[in-house]
Amino acid sequence: MPKIQQLSPHVADLIAAGEVVERPASAAKELVENAIDAGAHKVTVELRDGGMTFLRVTDDGCGMAAEDVETAFLRHATSKLHEAADLEAIHTLGFRGEALAAISSVSRIDVLTKTADAPFGTSLHLEAGVVTERGEAGCPNGTTMLVRDLFYNTPARMKFMKRDSVEASAVLSTVQRLALAHPEVAVRVLRDGQEQLSTPGDGKLLSAIYAVMGRQTAQEMTPVDGSWDKLSVTGFVTRPAATRGTRGSQIFFVNGRHVRSKLMTAALEQAYRNQLLQGRFPACVLHLHLPEHLVDVNVHPAKTEVRFLREQEVFDCVHYGVLGALEQASGRVQMKLKP
Ligand code: ADP
Ligand code: MG
Repeated sequence: MPKIQQLSPHVADLIAAGEVVERPASAAKELVENAIDAGAHKVTVELRDGGMTFLRVTDDGCGMAAEDVETAFLRHATSKLHEAADLEAIHTLGFRGEALAAISSVSRIDVLTKTADAPFGTSLHLEAGVVTERGEAGCPNGTTMLVRDLFYNTPARMKFMKRDSVEASAVLSTVQRLALAHPEVAVRVLRDGQEQLSTPGDGKLLSAIYAVMGRQTAQEMTPVDGSWDKLSVTGFVTRPAATRGTRGSQIFFVNGRHVRSKLMTAALEQAYRNQLLQGRFPACVLHLHLPEHLVDVNVHPAKTEVRFLREQEVFDCVHYGVLGALEQASGRVQMKLKP
């Protein structure tokens, strides 16, 4: 047997990076989530070559203090979680303190960041997770993270990247979902200098739907607003006459996080019952809110799975919420539903 030894932090980072950053879209997700967690009102994502050579996220959030910037890139370094008990009630998108460590270990990063009360900002350059330059910089309040040459030091991972256009659209879909989750944030995406997305950030979900899914879909939507015990569901679904050939436009959020959920899909579609032709699917953007202790988001860093403690309640909440919306849309008297 070879000797057992603990991996060096660098190797451990590379392994962790493999899980957190699969492709440019996963890096974009982490960076935009950080911007939102930082309280940004405006977030801009710029990418070139599918995000492989250039992925820049600029926000007008709280920024980082000069003494914190380097720490942010260490593994398990976070400002969002302090003790085990905090895991029971997570109010931010991030909490693992892994993303920046992971992304920086497989790329070159330039950071510019400034808090509102600091006279100067800080600039930092990292290569494969190692700080190579640091300085003061004049910059606006907020943070800019420029990630270059993703996976340049992990050729095995690089080989798995698809065409630039495929990676670019994965980045776009990821940012679109974040924009739908946060209508209060104005989100822009520029691909090779061309604008692909621009949400107004006016706090209205329908405005974000309009920007992401287009005018036609926005016009076909009817509002959902239901509650079931401590659960509530809000958002929009398409009227039965306006269905799609795929489930691609069914978007679900649980406590602000995008999830894929067979349970929620089934609850949605059952509300349409016999109104759907075979092979036709409704579109939706639905936000489910439930007490944090009834949902486990800690399943996997990069995956969109959640576990519900009480599945039947989730089903009922979504099902009756959508049913109520469809009934109201069709002009029938809305039933009063009580658990
Ligand atoms: P997490 O988001 O899980 O805390 P990250 O590795 O993504 O871990 O980020 C580490 C820390 O860096 C965050 O907790 C936050 O304090 C800080 N940070 C990262 N991005 C930003 C940003 N855009 N604005 C302000 N602070 C940030
Ligand atoms: Mg994060």
